[in-house]
Amino acid sequence: SQLTSLISSRDVPFHTFEFFPPRTEAGLVNLLDRIRRLASEPLPAPLAVSVTWGAGGSTADRSLELAEHVVKMGLDVVLHLTCTNMAKEKVDQALERCRALGIRNILALRGDPPRSEEYAVSSDPTPDFFKHADDLVRYIRAEHADYFCIGVAGYPTPHSDSENEEDDLHWLKVKCDAGADFIITQLFYDVDGFLNWVKTCREKGISQPIIPGIMPIQNFASFRRLVNLTKCPVPDAIMAELEPISSDDAAVKKYGAELATKMVSQILGSKLVPGVHFCTLNLEKSVRTILENLGWSSAASGGRSNSPAPRHNRLIE
Ligand code: FAD
Repeated sequence: SQLTSLISSRDVPFHTFEFFPPRTEAGLVNLLDRIRRLASEPLPAPLAVSVTWGAGGSTADRSLELAEHVVKMGLDVVLHLTCTNMAKEKVDQALERCRALGIRNILALRGDPPRSEEYAVSSDPTPDFFKHADDLVRYIRAEHADYFCIGVAGYPTPHSDSENEEDDLHWLKVKCDAGADFIITQLFYDVDGFLNWVKTCREKGISQPIIPGIMPIQNFASFRRLVNLTKCPVPDAIMAELEPISSDDAAVKKYGAELATKMVSQILGSKLVPGVHFCTLNLEKSVRTILENLGWSSAASGGRSNSPAPRHNRLIE
């Protein structure tokens, strides 16, 4: 189903999961087991599962294979699709494959250019049919009308290519006006900053549902690498709590799950967004703990819910 229809059919907050395609067959088998467990009782069903796409189509086959397995589990898929450094035919093939599999949701992305030395050795540079994500949004709409529900990326901290927040929000609005239906955000740790950004989006006339990307901290080194890469500001209070435990992986993981639980509660408590998107890094334990901490697991309420829409509004009532 289309994600926006699923969202509007619910009166309680939802969650989605993001996974990347593993490199090996054994990795795929493991991941499919994890997805199955994360989508089974007593945990609430995810509204959808998103599958990432390697820039330039580098994971095209593996992404589509993972997406197909997820469809076969009876789950709705959001396929990420980047458009630069990729032949237009590859975009067409991916979209056709999605239609054949019944996938109705695409996260339309620009992707990042390959590093310069990789570019220099390429004997067959791909002509730039698409320059930005808005080109892909327009293209999908033109070729496939309303078959696909299209998402785009949003940046609570402006993208590094943007001059400033004004510029960043301008291009987000352009993507929305080109036909995007929903927004999934880059990760962030400053919840107040995120909520202010959502309000600014609304003031600028961006009315699409905004789904915040939540990345539970899994270990200190990878967290530091990631926030440097995305230039994501981290509140001093979080750094002050993390630094003393930085070499204790189990403590960092526990802290990460508790922090994400607090963030999700505050975000959903604001009623400004309808649900959250968990960047799982293909790991199971943290998101499981967060869903349990939130009281969304039916085991926490002493039994299974027969309701098709999982009742996980306790926290924000
Ligand atoms: P764009 O929307 O094109 O924006 C890029 C920059 O250009 C911004 O500064 C923007 O303000 C500016 N801009 C936008 N449109 C125009 C225009 N028409 N003219 C001039 N300037 C413009 N990458 C992957 O490779 N695979 C993935 O699966 C993946 N998943 C992601 C999921 C999420 C939720 C997010 C937030 C990012 C993801 N990315 C992924 C990373 C993404 O590809 C990069 O952040 C990329 O640098 C920008 O992609 P975009 O779609 O936001 O680009």
